[in-house]
This record gives sequence, C-alpha cells and structure tokens, in this order.
Amino acid sequence: MSRIVVDVERCEGHGLCEQTAPEVFRLDDDGELHLTHEEVAPERESAVAAAVRVCPVAALRLQP
Ligand code: SF4
Repeated sequence: MSRIVVDVERCEGHGLCEQTAPEVFRLDDDGELHLTHEEVAPERESAVAAAVRVCPVAALRLQP
C-alpha cells in the first residue's frame, strides 16, 4: 500500500487536493492540510493520484 507524503514547506493551502479527494485531504480553518488516511487504500488510489497531479506546487507525492 502506498503512502501519501506532504511537503508542508511547499503546501500553500490551495485546497485542490481536498476538492479532488475530500475523503483523504482536509484543510483546517488555518489553511493547514490534514490527511485522514496516510496509507492509500486500493479503492482510493485513483482519487489520491489525481490529487497528487492537481497540486499546483507539487507538494504531494506517493511513496510506494
Ligand atoms: S493542492 Fe497542494 S498546495 Fe493545495 S492544499 Fe493540497 S497539497 Fe497543499
């Protein structure tokens, strides 16, 4: 199972990942990103991969 790695220094709180995979990514009121699951379950893989691609500052990656 792959894991999501967030580069918190890069993340600017755009929220596109949250829009793409709201069941995994959540921004709090301060614009800080939280993961509801770090490990990517098979049924969430395509949504998480899409969120990784959509991040405008490349702050997300998947670690096998
Ligand atoms: S899309 Fe990228 S910059 Fe925006 S909240 Fe998600 S990780 Fe952060």
